[in-house]
Amino acid sequence: MASSSLDWIGPELERLAAASLERVIGTTAPASPGHVERRGRTLLDLSSNDYLGLARHPAIIEAMREALLAEGAGSGASRLATGSRPPYERLEQALAQWHGKGGALVLASGYMANAGVIPALVGRQDVVFSDRLNHASIVDGIALSRAEHARYRHGDMDHLRVLLQKHRGKRRKLIVTDAVFSMDGDQAPLAELVELKREHGAMLMADEAHSGGIYGRRGEGLAAQLGLQDEIDVHLGTFGKAFGLYGAYLCGSRELIRWLSSAARPLVYSTALPPSVPAGVMAALELIQAGPERRMRLLAASRMFRASLTAAGLDVPDGDSPIVPLRIGESDQALRVQAALEEEGIAALAVRPPTVPAGTARIRFSLSAAHSDAELAAAASRIVSVCRRLGLGAP
Ligand code: PMP
Repeated sequence: MASSSLDWIGPELERLAAASLERVIGTTAPASPGHVERRGRTLLDLSSNDYLGLARHPAIIEAMREALLAEGAGSGASRLATGSRPPYERLEQALAQWHGKGGALVLASGYMANAGVIPALVGRQDVVFSDRLNHASIVDGIALSRAEHARYRHGDMDHLRVLLQKHRGKRRKLIVTDAVFSMDGDQAPLAELVELKREHGAMLMADEAHSGGIYGRRGEGLAAQLGLQDEIDVHLGTFGKAFGLYGAYLCGSRELIRWLSSAARPLVYSTALPPSVPAGVMAALELIQAGPERRMRLLAASRMFRASLTAAGLDVPDGDSPIVPLRIGESDQALRVQAALEEEGIAALAVRPPTVPAGTARIRFSLSAAHSDAELAAAASRIVSVCRRLGLGAP
């Protein structure tokens, strides 16, 4: 066969597969909320971020259907070209009000929001202080910005203080953190971050992808729960997780939003989400604001689930979120646990490097308000038996 300039890919793929690091997109079919169908079997879905079980909510689907008929399928271009249709304007006003901020800007995804906002805030003369376990889209946003990337050890405020001191001469400083860490499920020390940002005149950005809709009196997120909303200069939220949909938003002062409208490249250079999406998100926001039942049930069930695994001697870090990681170590073992869980009717993801640091492969259980307590209790006991069979946890 003739050689091609893509010949290098074959050996790279072999290397990935041999190290249990190749990622393969499986096939699933929808089932009832909180479940998924795979290879003809219905599994309990502990792999999705549909935390509140809204992805199939009839009110959201109806709002999207109406908007689809009224507004059409696609938005045609960037909103800077075609203008914002009513579902966008309604949603951005509601989001700004929810957070008590001057404005909000909807973008196509959390990845794009991070890739857009960070380069809009900092450049070559600046520095970004970023928790070592921050999401990949933050890391990519920092690389795109060309600012210096000062990574601090996970949650280590003494380390951050040292780095802030070291870079005190820089033009602009941005501290950025996941509010709830996506693969560990623990919370950032937001109160201490606020103190440090004040001391050092830095901007503070919180990515509330995994906390929006789950914490706070009206579901606004972790900063709101801690009474710190006013101290967060840049709030990033996503619609792909607790909202059950797709998309993201940035929220902050009126001036910040004005600036991002000119400077956030994914807004300027990318087609806007179809208007049916912000219409559906608005319906999801109303459900989230309507009452705390779903989020309270979710957090109570997550505590119970986490406690069952810990009591069985499994390596589950502390936390208070619907993300419950079971630490395994090596990628091949994590894949074996994932396969054995699927045999037991549980869909859960083995997360491997480079998503998590080398040697810390894990199963990431993410729970949903769509799951009943009984389902989760039964799942926990099946997980414990699978782990025992594979030699994990206390005998
Ligand atoms: N930030 C964090 C902390 C995330 O976990 C994710 C998604 N996994 C994103 C941003 C990206 O959001 P989206 O899926 O909407 O692109």
